Amino acid sequence: MSTRIQTDPRSLVARLPFLAMPTGSSHTMDADAPQRQRTLRAPVKCSGIGVHTGTPVTLTMFPAAPGHGIRFRRVDLGPDVEIAASWDRVVVTNHCTMLGQGLGGEDEATVMTVEHLMSAFAGLGVDNALVLLDGPEVPIMDGSSAAFVFLIDCAGLVEQDAPRRAIEVLRPVTVEEGNKVAQLLPQPHCSISFAIDFPAPAIGRQSHRITITESSYRSEIARARTFGMLQEVDYLRKLGLARGGSLENAIVVDGDRILNPEGLRFTDEFVRHKILDCLGDLYLAGAPILGHVHGERAGHAFNNRLLHALFADPANWRWVEVSRGGTVRPIEAVTHEAVTHGAEAVEAATQHSVAA
Ligand SMILES: [Zn+2]
Repeated sequence: MSTRIQTDPRSLVARLPFLAMPTGSSHTMDADAPQRQRTLRAPVKCSGIGVHTGTPVTLTMFPAAPGHGIRFRRVDLGPDVEIAASWDRVVVTNHCTMLGQGLGGEDEATVMTVEHLMSAFAGLGVDNALVLLDGPEVPIMDGSSAAFVFLIDCAGLVEQDAPRRAIEVLRPVTVEEGNKVAQLLPQPHCSISFAIDFPAPAIGRQSHRITITESSYRSEIARARTFGMLQEVDYLRKLGLARGGSLENAIVVDGDRILNPEGLRFTDEFVRHKILDCLGDLYLAGAPILGHVHGERAGHAFNNRLLHALFADPANWRWVEVSRGGTVRPIEAVTHEAVTHGAEAVEAATQHSVAA
């Protein structure tokens, strides 16, 4: 099935950078000012199919208020059901990341395959958005995040009148089982290293490391597609998965052969896609993570276990603001100043970050 992308005509204005000045633009050139939360400038939508369910679905993204975060809303269920894009709402991690309401039971509303869209939100720095779906699964598009990056670009982004919160990793957190490892290490910015080792010679052992910025995400990660083994297709379909999978939305590997006639987009596209997934899964933390993420043969399950391990101990992390120049400042300091010096000090601290 072909995919379709529609944009609100107003969003075209947002693509002209000089017409899309963010709110509070007097702070934009101040390296000490805190980064601000961002949302879409206009609604935008696309249609496609779910890679696992094979179901046609229309996805519409809406701007949302500061502090809203990313939320999904199923609009095909009678009363609409809203599900927060949160690590503690993950109910399935087999072959995709699935969110649920947290009620349990067969009637629980779920949203499948959120990871590639979440990755685009993380990579482009979208803090707040409401995502409407008229089906059970985020459309797979071309198997990467490129279509979602395009959609967000079409909508445009606006800065909001609230500082962005980030999660700073304070001490190493490791999840390990057999030869699989997922790890978070303290560091004042976000980077990801990942290694995979597949028996199929077309993949083999690959490793890649990247410091995550909007520009590195766009050029090195966003276009990397999901992949699968030809031998697994029958097995997955018996499980009710991969029903919408095809050469149009996944790299299919048969031993030493890539079946897609167009070949690969990167020689190490497989490990780059694992980084794409990892960034999307970890954005379910509810904010950007400042730290180094290392994954070794890890997948959706380990990414989610890593967040559970991180949040299991409050000593592992803290809330921070990050200045436009990259300086990290604990949010407790703002609160403390509020108590000590009153609201004016907070306003001053927020407007002109005083981090050392
Ligand atoms: Zn993926």
